Amino acid sequence: MDERLSTTQVPAVIGVADKAPAIRLENVAKTYDLGEVQVHALRGVSLEIHAGEFVAVMGASGSGKSTLMNILGCLDKPTKGRYFLDGGDVSGLTKKELARVRSHKIGFVFQQFNLLARTTALENVELPTIYAGIPVAERARRAQEALERVGLADRADHFPSQLSGGQQQRVAIARALVNNPAILLADEPTGNLDSRTSVEIMEIFQKLNDEHGLTVVIVTHEPDIAQYAKRALEFRDGRLRKDIPIQNRSIAKDVLPTLPALDEDDVEMVAEREAEPGAAEALLHNTRTPG
Ligand code: ADP
Ligand code: MG
Repeated sequence: MDERLSTTQVPAVIGVADKAPAIRLENVAKTYDLGEVQVHALRGVSLEIHAGEFVAVMGASGSGKSTLMNILGCLDKPTKGRYFLDGGDVSGLTKKELARVRSHKIGFVFQQFNLLARTTALENVELPTIYAGIPVAERARRAQEALERVGLADRADHFPSQLSGGQQQRVAIARALVNNPAILLADEPTGNLDSRTSVEIMEIFQKLNDEHGLTVVIVTHEPDIAQYAKRALEFRDGRLRKDIPIQNRSIAKDVLPTLPALDEDDVEMVAEREAEPGAAEALLHNTRTPG
């Protein structure tokens, strides 16, 4: 059996042009209708992200970042506008069709890890292979391989409660990788992690992006974390306000040796911080070396 499922099994992406951007949004709006009030979470967003990019999405709380990620991840649909994924228009698909596209094309990582508690690391990673229809014999092998890619091959039998926060997030990344997605989306993946562990997670994303050409889009409101990406988008009030290349990019594998080693018993969950206004601006002029 082929490593990757044939794209012909995904109706939305038939006849796709080779050079199409991985992601293209055309004037995408999302309005949540709460009866009395309408919340305009996205107000006409257009952007392109190409294969191999590494993008950090920034902006204050409530600016529409998660709404954007949920649309990019085919977890939700735009109210208006169009979304082309790998050149195929997915804006008109049904929920079931979207789920199918998602399971083949997208890996999604959440701030809260979202692992099943009574399930081992290996089984957590295996879950998406079931939905993707991977043959049983193949599932555990793929899951083990994905755990190896995040450096957790020796923790396959552990339950989430037996793993540190950083290790749990690595299991969640392995789970996102197990179906060989073209795009990895992560909504505040380091929001619950201390700063050294956050850099370790960024090291994994940089490695996947550099060595495997994986397209990576992360949400963060920490300029230090965005500094590991190649491009920063800043949202305000549902609009894309800035789109800038990262200068003086941080390289996690060079930064890690400069950070103090972590005492595992000493790990404190870092409280979620609000984004600082003008965060993207700060990035542009950032000349500091992190750590
Ligand atoms: P961010 O991730 O940048 O904090 P969100 O995309 O979560 O922002 O939210 C953008 C706006 O949409 C906020 O005003 C939020 O309250 C609202 N919103 C998000 N999800 C929903 C929902 N499911 N129903 C109603 N309003 C929502
Ligand atoms: Mg959010």
